[in-house]
Amino acid sequence: VSLSRAEAEAMDAADPLARFRAAFDLPEGVIYLDGNSLGPPPRATAARLAEVVGREWGRDLITSWNLNGWMDAPLRVGAKIAALIGAGPSEVAVADSTTVNLFKLAAGALSLRPGRQVLLTPADNFPSDLYALEGLAGLIPGVELRIAEPEGLLAAIGEDVAAVVLTQVHYKTSARWDLAQVTAAAHAKGALALWDLSHSVGALAIDVTAARADLAVGCGYKYLNGGPGAPAFVYVAERHQAGIRSPLTGWMGHAEPFAFEGHYRPAADIRGQVSGTPGVLGLAALEAGLDLLAEAGPAATEAKGLALAELFMSLVETRCAGHGLSLLGPRDTARRGLHVAYAHPDGYALVQAAIARGVIGDFRAPDVARYGFSPLFLSYAQVWDAVEILREILATRAFDRDDYRRRATVT
Ligand SMILES: *Cc1c(COP(=O)(O)O)cnc(C)c1O
Repeated sequence: VSLSRAEAEAMDAADPLARFRAAFDLPEGVIYLDGNSLGPPPRATAARLAEVVGREWGRDLITSWNLNGWMDAPLRVGAKIAALIGAGPSEVAVADSTTVNLFKLAAGALSLRPGRQVLLTPADNFPSDLYALEGLAGLIPGVELRIAEPEGLLAAIGEDVAAVVLTQVHYKTSARWDLAQVTAAAHAKGALALWDLSHSVGALAIDVTAARADLAVGCGYKYLNGGPGAPAFVYVAERHQAGIRSPLTGWMGHAEPFAFEGHYRPAADIRGQVSGTPGVLGLAALEAGLDLLAEAGPAATEAKGLALAELFMSLVETRCAGHGLSLLGPRDTARRGLHVAYAHPDGYALVQAAIARGVIGDFRAPDVARYGFSPLFLSYAQVWDAVEILREILATRAFDRDDYRRRATVT
């Protein structure tokens, strides 16, 4: 049985997060199913940035480092992210990009497990994560990057592994690793677990403390709505903070940056993961995005996001059957994140045809159409409408046009 549009509207009427849609300024007529790749700007962001540029930077000038809390921003904003992932307020800092942070923490994991030289990761991990690990392994003689097929990952954790490095929710399939289970399997062999939470932070109700996760990184511009190239975050469990070493030993990670000492002395807390001067404008935008998520709360966010994804999958099954879409990843929402992806022989053109009709998703090579279900600004009725537009495109083969097949730089 297929749900009617009226039934989707009834779900909206009962939706406790419906009021958050007004906090975003999305264009009329667009169904934005790509908040998992670039979250849209909250209305508050532009005003906040104008204030930081005009009043703080423009009027208070350099005194803002003290006066307007610029210096504390990496930890202040980090504490807001900590609340979303079940970490303590002093366990998260905002700094650098996800890629740089993964590099820093993978090196940090090696420093915490002297005598172990293997970093273990699944073969289908996000390419940038694989590249960062390759770069690190290439830099330090003796360090080995061991790549396992995902099915064999847990069995591949040996006594020589310093850290298992993996992404909780897969960027393509949306398949979700069990944070607690994988972490426990790593610990059973004396290894650490380093998680990339890019596709789960701000989407799922994560609890790094309950899972005993050691280290984590995550992206600021996806579900956190921090803006294009927003700063990313690092999580280091309290128990590792005094021992971990960062390979990027800059002055902001020094125990006393303004002592201007001639040698590096690491801060014994999470500040040790901050290397250079924080990007204040990026932090201000990220903070505006986080305030909305804090208000909504991770449990409600996860519940609605998974319900939207479930509705999309079930409507596609009933209304788009027989048109060549095959679902990637598990069907069960308990084992996935908030995006849903389908392989289709004409995946790229399909995505372009839907964008031309106001349904924005994205494409991931070789043949994957991907749709994300951000809970703060999407409605159930929009999900219904998006499936109807997809159904029409598939049934009429409206995607079958050369201009929809011309690949842009960013897909
Ligand atoms: C988006 C994403 C990144 C992004 O890294 P950048 O350094 O911001 O380019 C990294 N890892 C994963 C798993 C991602 O999904």
